[in-house]
Amino acid sequence: TGKSPFEALSVKTLAARLGANEALCSHIGKDTARWKVREVGDGNLNLVFIVEGATGAAVVKQALPYVRLVGDSWPLPLKRSFFEYHALTRQEARAPGSVPAIYHFDEVQALIIMEYLSPHIILRRALIEGRQLPNIARDIGLFMARTLFRGSDLSMVTKDRKADLALFADNVELCDITENLVFSDPYFDAKMNRHTSPQLDGIVAELRADRDLKVEAQRLKHLFAANAETLLHGDLHSGSIMVTDSETRMIDPEFAFYGPMAFDVGMLLANFWMAFFSQRGHEQKEKRDAMRGYLLDVTVETWSVFRTEFSHLWRTERTGMLYQKSLFEDQGDRLGAEQALDHMLHSIWTDMLGFAGVEVHRRILGLAHNADFETIADEDLRATCEAKALKFGRHIAVNRRQIHSIDEVNTLAALIE
Ligand code: ADP
Ligand code: MG
Ligand code: MG
Ligand code: MG
Repeated sequence: TGKSPFEALSVKTLAARLGANEALCSHIGKDTARWKVREVGDGNLNLVFIVEGATGAAVVKQALPYVRLVGDSWPLPLKRSFFEYHALTRQEARAPGSVPAIYHFDEVQALIIMEYLSPHIILRRALIEGRQLPNIARDIGLFMARTLFRGSDLSMVTKDRKADLALFADNVELCDITENLVFSDPYFDAKMNRHTSPQLDGIVAELRADRDLKVEAQRLKHLFAANAETLLHGDLHSGSIMVTDSETRMIDPEFAFYGPMAFDVGMLLANFWMAFFSQRGHEQKEKRDAMRGYLLDVTVETWSVFRTEFSHLWRTERTGMLYQKSLFEDQGDRLGAEQALDHMLHSIWTDMLGFAGVEVHRRILGLAHNADFETIADEDLRATCEAKALKFGRHIAVNRRQIHSIDEVNTLAALIE
């Protein structure tokens, strides 16, 4: 398929088109008559096929030249698949075992053939069902610390990092989606916005008239666009994480881009807080008090694991051009290195809260909503949950410099709930 022009795969054509692909055949068996193909993509952008053969199964993910959720009226370049592939290889190198194994990449067909994660399910679905996964905080906290630290000038040879920055700088269209959908659209009457109406009309008007919030959202947008600190996952929400009780894997880094470390952390934690505020809408069968407690504990542990691992890497792997050891440890000044670490963690913390706040808003007011709230069929009940989350998001975004601990954030969340 490498030479022929791009053509979208279908359940019917996949076996004929990929039957000669050695990487795929070596994993699932080459007898295409026995291949079973289904399309399972539930995301907003791409096609995802599961292909089962005589000796195994694999996933084939293919980009389309447009946004799947909207259709061909919104073109989107195929090269996002290239960025996803390169992000996956870097994440695997920096945080081994955290992403699906990659079997094959075809740039022209914009397709990635990878490990079929099974019996993993999407974390968001597990949280909606009320499942308490025991390892997610540790696994995701480690993933973020390792990928964000090791992709930065704290760790990399600066020449390599700059070359990589140049490579990912071309992911402009997906950055543009984030820049508009996350930081701007929720705060004005953008065309593709939607919200639970009329229940939220009042609070939506309030947020759009909220000068402090809009200024803060634009400061965060500036930070996102101008602070090319490290290679971000770029779309690290609970729909981009697949889990079992013992395993956690990150998928779908097509938004990968050099940006501020705090962006991935904030987006991820926002998704736990949204899961928290949505639980009221899922407790018809059983009460969700324990689940709510669990979700707040997960935010505490994720942040703590992230901090601890980031600090560990700071002390043991600081080989880049920033805060060189020659300035500190090599002169016997360990305190200086700790001082600089505290500054960095403090700014990640403050910015993380801002990114979390706007992420909550855009999932309730923008184009791309979360199943956490969308699956609450009773619209009044859904709006009640959403309104609380909106209030929480506004508070942490605007007051992020005055909030000092994750326990303090969770006290606010509990108060609003
Ligand atoms: P999109 O970029 O369109 O959001 P995703 O990469 O998130 O696509 O994949 C969409 C869905 O396909 C996921 O929610 C998941 O259910 C399934 N999926 C994707 N990759 C895998 C995989 N490696 N193993 C199993 N299922 C997967
Ligand atoms: Mg996805
Ligand atoms: Mg998705
Ligand atoms: Mg995606």
